[in-house]
Amino acid sequence: MTRAFNFAAGPAAIPTEVLEQARDEMLDYQGTGVSIMEMSHRSRAFVDIAEEAEANFRELLNIPEEYEVLFLQGGATLQFSMVPLNLLREKTSADYVNTGSWSTKAIKEARRFCDVNVVANAEDDHFDHIPSHDTWSLDADAAYLHICSNETIGGVQFQDFPETDVPLVADMSSDILSRPVDVSRFGVIYAGAQKNIGPAGLTVVIVHSDLVGHARQETPSLLDYAVHAGSGSMSNTPPTYAWYLASLVFRWLKNNGGLEAMETRNRNKANKLYGAIERSNFYRCPVAVEARSMMNVPFTLPDPSFDEVFLAAAEARGLLNLKGHRSVGGMRASLYNAVPEAAVDALIEFMNEFEHDRR
Ligand SMILES: *Cc1c(COP(=O)(O)O)cnc(C)c1O
Repeated sequence: MTRAFNFAAGPAAIPTEVLEQARDEMLDYQGTGVSIMEMSHRSRAFVDIAEEAEANFRELLNIPEEYEVLFLQGGATLQFSMVPLNLLREKTSADYVNTGSWSTKAIKEARRFCDVNVVANAEDDHFDHIPSHDTWSLDADAAYLHICSNETIGGVQFQDFPETDVPLVADMSSDILSRPVDVSRFGVIYAGAQKNIGPAGLTVVIVHSDLVGHARQETPSLLDYAVHAGSGSMSNTPPTYAWYLASLVFRWLKNNGGLEAMETRNRNKANKLYGAIERSNFYRCPVAVEARSMMNVPFTLPDPSFDEVFLAAAEARGLLNLKGHRSVGGMRASLYNAVPEAAVDALIEFMNEFEHDRR
């Protein structure tokens, strides 16, 4: 068996050790005689998995006690509406920073529920940077301020977070667990699992308990944070298998030095690739240096007519899923926690050869 180097943006690479353990436990989970997929979410075996997952996740991110951790479905996209439904209360507006495609989608959905004040917008610059915090026109009366910490498509990442008087809400789908974060600065952090946690189908929400229990009256119960917080995220059947795989990934992260070690690894991988792009006169990264993402590295070739040849030759080398998002074109290498440094080295070697052959 050979495993390819997988640069997919999401669903994305999962650590090989995790998949091996899942394989070994697939048919008979620890002597129970059944697969985790086949057992009740209320069984002792599954409840133990769920509890371990939450404990390890809390430990990894150093989550203070006054925060709830929810294991939900619906993807990050459903949070685009759950956030306003739960946080607006009697307020009529919320502040949003627009740094790319995912911010734009969050804004569009929030407009169904309230007035959205776009306090900073990088759209006119093709989302190539993050407007500096001191230029944002914040509203003291907004229900919350929403940001996307890492724009998966544009490759733009917050390096530091704004000070706010209103609750700060962050879509961290594509950089959660990639570096330590001070959770106490946030009201809500949410992330779809399929980028940096595990398989699709699971969404993790970290929410301050002050923000739980105030959903709008007409909110469907499954969209109410309080319903999930009050039931251990088991108000209905949760995505048990995805939750189990997430628990294995959390264990893997702990065994590999936690988030400080991940940040060092991730920074090193990203620096190598950005360095190679900078040194060449062939590849180009469209993002301002200070906003470049450690997780998603977009780059272009001198002429889009090279793209298909590049992708085919990369694939033949076992370097997969480098095609940029259809909305921006070019290439994108996603370097999540599960992507080893050897993958980056192999990619750089290939890129250098490809450039050399075209000169
Ligand atoms: C992938 C992604 C989403 C959408 O996630 P779904 O799970 O498909 O709903 C939202 N925000 C960001 C930053 C993402 O990377």
